[in-house]
Amino acid sequence: EKLTSEVAPKVRQIPGTPVIISPLDEIFNWARASSIWPMTFGLACCAIEMMATGASHFDLDRFGIIFRATPRQADCIIVAGTVTKKMAPAVKRVYEQMPEPKYVIAMGSCACSGGIFKTYSTVQGVDEFLPVDVYIPGCPPRPEALIFGLLKLQEKMKKERGRWGFWR
Ligand code: SF4
Repeated sequence: EKLTSEVAPKVRQIPGTPVIISPLDEIFNWARASSIWPMTFGLACCAIEMMATGASHFDLDRFGIIFRATPRQADCIIVAGTVTKKMAPAVKRVYEQMPEPKYVIAMGSCACSGGIFKTYSTVQGVDEFLPVDVYIPGCPPRPEALIFGLLKLQEKMKKERGRWGFWR
């Protein structure tokens, strides 16, 4: 009932049978958005808020969001904190090791735009080298803001068409 109504409105059940008809996109998007597995990339103070978001008080697990410690199992990278030019190649390499389809969240002013660090050593926004899907401003953003950003990412995922990744 949940699948056929609010989550995937194009899914139709053939009356009197357990058979459902649906665009494949609708099923994949629903499954993907309901089980985001973020790769953590805590680089500075914002990472503390990211850790708090994953802990019991804010409880990301209830959204199906489970942190992974390896890019091979992750479909989203949360870049949380200041990206230095020295660290940027490592962030990029981790992103490249993640399987498709994959997503990027820039958490905090530093990851979004360099924040207060207008210096020679700091990347002025992780979107200089990664395709960012969701920007979460703040210094640092509170866990509620990160949760809001993840919900926005879910919305984006549910609107995608033909991005199945493993059939490419
Ligand atoms: Fe630290 Fe603020 Fe930068 Fe986050 S945005 S990493 S809290 S300085």
